Amino acid sequence: MLSLAAPSLDDGVLLETVIASRNAGVGKSWLVDHVSEIATAYVAYHAAGAGLVQLVPMVTDRTSVAHRAMESNWASLDNTSTADVKPAILKRSARCVLCADQQAGQIDHYLPKAVYPEFAILQANLAPACGRCNHMKSDRYRQDGQPLFLHPYHHRLPTERWLTAEVQLVDGVLVVDFAVIQSPTMSAETYELLARHFSVLRLGDLYGDNAISAMGEIKLTCQEEFTTGGAQAVQRYLEKLARSVAGFRGVNHWRSTLMEALGGSWSFCAGGFRYIPDSEGIAID
Ligand SMILES: [Zn+2]
Repeated sequence: MLSLAAPSLDDGVLLETVIASRNAGVGKSWLVDHVSEIATAYVAYHAAGAGLVQLVPMVTDRTSVAHRAMESNWASLDNTSTADVKPAILKRSARCVLCADQQAGQIDHYLPKAVYPEFAILQANLAPACGRCNHMKSDRYRQDGQPLFLHPYHHRLPTERWLTAEVQLVDGVLVVDFAVIQSPTMSAETYELLARHFSVLRLGDLYGDNAISAMGEIKLTCQEEFTTGGAQAVQRYLEKLARSVAGFRGVNHWRSTLMEALGGSWSFCAGGFRYIPDSEGIAID
């Protein structure tokens, strides 16, 4: 759910360079003979817009020479002449575009290369991701004809709030439930896509786990503020923190949302913070 500027590299040149770098064989021969068809598929990708997941793959037989030749272009990117391409893609974002949280160390294919091998090295189809999200996404991309994930270069989410958090005390344990909502300027279509993205990648679980640690880090200050100024002092501290985090990470980062939710919870400010686990060790046990 991070949006990035669309890459502006010449994909035709990259394709030709990768093919030229490959060892001679049936795969390379097939690619040489079908460069123009792949280039046509690239044009279709850029023109598809919201219909991206409806594109018909060039080949469906995953064991065919055609499929293997195109999909293995991805591994061929590691050849000397194009070895700088993958590092450059990773540099587009330090954070995973799918969760906007974890450090990005892998590259996700928005349309999976196992289904669309023709887009294995198409720049617009590649974005930095974390191992968790990349693994969860795997070869999924649509369901019932609808896309499952926001596209990092196509979709732009509103800057108004669309991520919410609710803090609850359940059996003596603080639980934070994150959810997405349709913000005032968000279309129903975008909201439904955001909700699918959030659900399939289980971002509520990820943010909920993160929230336990983040609350642990502020527990001591909450106690100190409460001792000197009561619940109101705790609330003022949390509201300041929420503004500060939002100023740096945006209002829809889980941490800003969490701090705002905590500041908005009178029961938390009036003593609920005592139920934050004392250390991560205790929370894990
Ligand atoms: Zn991620």
